[in-house]
Amino acid sequence: LPPVHMLFSASHPDGVGTAACVDVGSQLGNPSCSIPSHPPTREEDFQFILCERCRKESPNLKLLTCLHTFCLDCLSENKPVGQCPSCRTPILQANGIPDMDNLLFTNLQARLGIYKKLSESGGPSCSRCQGEVAAVWCSECEEFLCTKCFQDHQWFFKKRNHEAKKVEELRADSAHQFLEDTKKSCNLFCSNPIHANQGHISSIYCRTCRKALCCSCALLDTHHAFCDISSETQRRQEELGTISQELKQKRGGLEATYAGLQDEAARLERAQREMRELIQQRVEELGGLIRREEEELVGLVEAGQEQGRRELARELERVEGMLRRMEAGERLVEKMKLYATEQEVMDMQPFIKDSLEELQQMQPPVARDQTQPEDLTECRRRLQAL
Ligand SMILES: [Zn+2]
Ligand SMILES: [Zn+2]
Ligand SMILES: [Zn+2]
Ligand SMILES: [Zn+2]
Ligand SMILES: [Zn+2]
Ligand SMILES: [Zn+2]
Repeated sequence: LPPVHMLFSASHPDGVGTAACVDVGSQLGNPSCSIPSHPPTREEDFQFILCERCRKESPNLKLLTCLHTFCLDCLSENKPVGQCPSCRTPILQANGIPDMDNLLFTNLQARLGIYKKLSESGGPSCSRCQGEVAAVWCSECEEFLCTKCFQDHQWFFKKRNHEAKKVEELRADSAHQFLEDTKKSCNLFCSNPIHANQGHISSIYCRTCRKALCCSCALLDTHHAFCDISSETQRRQEELGTISQELKQKRGGLEATYAGLQDEAARLERAQREMRELIQQRVEELGGLIRREEEELVGLVEAGQEQGRRELARELERVEGMLRRMEAGERLVEKMKLYATEQEVMDMQPFIKDSLEELQQMQPPVARDQTQPEDLTECRRRLQAL
């Protein structure tokens, strides 16, 4: 197979196309299938292109005003509606779906998808004829092309500035290099509405209209100030860089505030914990005190009961004795009346009379008063004082 040298013509309709030379090389028909020599791309390097909530790829990544990125699915299920799931910045759109797409991340997903295809063993196959192994990648068409389809492509696009890259070379790139290379070859198109979707490549920026224009539009846009599009994109990047740098200083202060708030929260937490411990300790002390008081009071009550029981028993005994004595007296008087001789009356009557008179003198115990015994009153008072 002869070496294929392709010199793209610089005859872009707007005359701004730069010549690009693609040397597809002598091994075009035999793309290398060897394992790429660069270290494998680490997964975490490109985690940032995923939705920040479900960590999935999505063709509909939305950029919120707070610059958080979520997929459409996550935003549709987002609750509460109308605020960022991460930082709670309000989302102004009524349906809770921001208008702004995160074009950078969705495009990066697509470009990394291409890189993944490149890295597959055996290499990617031609996007057009499907069967053949691809030899080049056209970043404009976003297609892998085999040798034959590439020749057709060159014929068809001979008036366009399509930059094709050899698959073999791209396979040797690291993911970062690949993205860097494809970044350079991505074109910017004229933003004039009359040229919408016509693929007019823009290299001119009108500072007055703040638009990227193709050459013909720039010619018609008289008396306006122009500059090269690359210097404008560079200026815009630098502008972001400057603001970001200023914010970094502010962030330092904010982080100090944050640390201060965290300290405050920790201090509050500590104070609360100490107070809880103090309460617990005091409750335990009081518990001990109350248990001791309980023992004393129960002791008092039991001692009082013991004393009361003894007194009652003595009184019962005495009353019982008096009753038995009365019974005995009654019985003897009755028997004297029935059976006593005169001699017996004379001998015994004074003795019996003395005994009965003594019984008459004996006071029956006063009815027990119903007031609390002294010790129980004391218990009651101490209980109330607790
Ligand atoms: Zn998501
Ligand atoms: Zn946010
Ligand atoms: Zn093909
Ligand atoms: Zn192309
Ligand atoms: Zn203008
Ligand atoms: Zn134009």
